Amino acid sequence: MLSVKEAESIVLNLAQFPDSQRDVETVDLLAASGRILAAPVTSSLDFPYWDNSAMDGYAVRFADVENCSAEKPIALDIIEEIPAGYQPQKTVGSGQAARIFTGGVIPTGADTVIMQEETRREGDRIFILVSPSKPQAFVRQKGAFYRSGMPLLNPGTIINAPEIAVLATAQCVRVPVYKRVRVAIFSSGDELISPEETLTAGKLVDSNQYALTALLAQMGVDAVRLGIIPDNKQVLTEAIARAISEADLVISTGGVSVGEYDYIEQILADLGGKIYVRSVAIKPGKPLTIAAFKRDSEQQAKSECLYFGLPGNPVSALVCCWRFVVPVIRKLAGMGEENWGPQFVQARSNVELRSDGKRETYVWGKLNLVAGVWQFEPASGSQNSANLINLANTTGLAVLPAIETSILAGELVQVLKIS
Ligand code: AMP
Ligand code: MG
Repeated sequence: MLSVKEAESIVLNLAQFPDSQRDVETVDLLAASGRILAAPVTSSLDFPYWDNSAMDGYAVRFADVENCSAEKPIALDIIEEIPAGYQPQKTVGSGQAARIFTGGVIPTGADTVIMQEETRREGDRIFILVSPSKPQAFVRQKGAFYRSGMPLLNPGTIINAPEIAVLATAQCVRVPVYKRVRVAIFSSGDELISPEETLTAGKLVDSNQYALTALLAQMGVDAVRLGIIPDNKQVLTEAIARAISEADLVISTGGVSVGEYDYIEQILADLGGKIYVRSVAIKPGKPLTIAAFKRDSEQQAKSECLYFGLPGNPVSALVCCWRFVVPVIRKLAGMGEENWGPQFVQARSNVELRSDGKRETYVWGKLNLVAGVWQFEPASGSQNSANLINLANTTGLAVLPAIETSILAGELVQVLKIS
């Protein structure tokens, strides 16, 4: 049985980072939202594009107004009006000013903006009442925020609203992103029915496939659901063969324990998969099968398909997915290494947390930030891997290391953030 850390490093080593040619596609700007940038972006434009005004006011020559005051105002002739979006037509000479509005282009000759509130207007003349602090005051200088040709965004960047703004500003309307990770998912078990089927004696609704598909969708994964596969060797073999031929990663739940009907591991081996993980010292979740299949590396696919056979118990399946599958998907998707791993915070537990001390134990519950301190409150009711009901509203999993049997109320505990 492997430790959680050992299993994690095995799977992260198996996961292939996307190829900078084969695994890249170019999409329109808005379609890039939520995707991962696959190539460096630079722009041939400076930003700001032009020297422009940060205020509504008057564009002047600093030398004309550096010594003025309310008692000794300087009068200038207004030669032009420059709203935003307008190309100035005149040069501001000594003794002259241009009326300018926020975003307006600074005219030639002017080097400083005086804000409107520090002036008094009389017809076509403007009296400057306060001397500017320095030349270039209230001028947003061309290239001050970004110089053309410099790196703008790096590969691995997750493209969210701020990055969309940057790309739009740089007029990068076709964006190179990594292809979506293709994941096939199915549930195995003769007892399973789908949520809309009529429940008959002994049956159980397949919640795993829905929970995991929802989790994958939140990660921007291209998920193919293969449905419920019965505990039948032949049918399971066909489903698994199809899944590994179509996807970069396969997730199944159920059938990885030691029972008579748990066929998955045997089938993976029969199909030529190399089994890397059989069980992990994690609770919930011990029976966890992880395998890799070599493929002919044709143009479209990664040279290996990873298979995660998760336990059937709903809480075990989700915990294993959060702990092992999510980091792997982040790597396969092309995120920067700093984003792969699970995010842990130190939190104070509000009650004693217990474990049998044999396996690394994950207690589900709520993570709250109270006056700057993370607090963990375990879900009330049974912490049983089949109890998916009290899993609702979970935002954190407190981790009791394998040797630890108790964390006292008020003590610090590592908590895996899951939302
Ligand atoms: P197994 O890993 O196949 O032995 O399943 C362990 C437990 O999880 C059994 O009680 C199953 O009924 C339950 N289970 C298996 N698959 C699912 C599923 N897809 N959704 C909900 N519960 C499941
Ligand atoms: Mg089963």
